[in-house]
Amino acid sequence: MKYTEISHLSHPQHNLKCEYTETPFKCDGCKEVGIGSRYKCSSACDYDLHMHCAIPSPTITHPFYTKCSFQFLPRPPGNIPRYCNACEKDVTGFVYHCESCGFDLHPCCAKLPMMLDDGEVKLYLYRKVSSSCHRCGRKGRSWSYRSTCKKYNLHVACVKEMLVESWHEIYFGGGYGNSRKLETTIPSLKGTLQNYHRKKSKGKMEKCCEMAGLALQFVISAVLGDPTTLIAGVVGSLMSK
Ligand SMILES: [Zn+2]
Ligand SMILES: [Zn+2]
Ligand SMILES: [Zn+2]
Ligand SMILES: [Zn+2]
Ligand SMILES: [Zn+2]
Repeated sequence: MKYTEISHLSHPQHNLKCEYTETPFKCDGCKEVGIGSRYKCSSACDYDLHMHCAIPSPTITHPFYTKCSFQFLPRPPGNIPRYCNACEKDVTGFVYHCESCGFDLHPCCAKLPMMLDDGEVKLYLYRKVSSSCHRCGRKGRSWSYRSTCKKYNLHVACVKEMLVESWHEIYFGGGYGNSRKLETTIPSLKGTLQNYHRKKSKGKMEKCCEMAGLALQFVISAVLGDPTTLIAGVVGSLMSK
């Protein structure tokens, strides 16, 4: 459910406005990267929230943890460092927390679609897969998206890392806040994906897996909180290889 304008307890002084961006942003709620739909301060503050962080559910359940009931909290409970059971990254802001077993999920991780469909390829979310991830080569670790042909796996954690690397390049590599920021956004994302693609041995990427590359943009945008975002240029760069 989307509203054009909301007020939020985390930023009570101004309303937040729903807008769409292809520039990655840092969510001030969960402290994770986002893209696509966001709620941004309608005044001049640099304050953004993911959709999932702006309009959380008080409690949720998740198909991977059928006995758990996750409660939305504005900050992680207790004093010990906590990490997300989906992506294994630190939890430092908004979180869904299960009190009885201590599991934590980032709001966007908690709301990851169980299935992504780009029209050609379907990718399913698994808690664990038995084959290795295309990016890091490892099996265990975080949740993964896997293609129906089972040859294409990507950890949710690895997708995040790909994006965070390019995000750091955009925001800390130089010129924050000027026009260069906008210009480098999409090429940087594209560059990341091309590097990612180049590292893989040719034999490993079979036809169906090249097709799955198409679905990669859906994985990325889902992990960043809005599965409907289309990342311009990504599809073309993957298909032209
Ligand atoms: Zn967030
Ligand atoms: Zn504000
Ligand atoms: Zn639990
Ligand atoms: Zn997470
Ligand atoms: Zn991986």
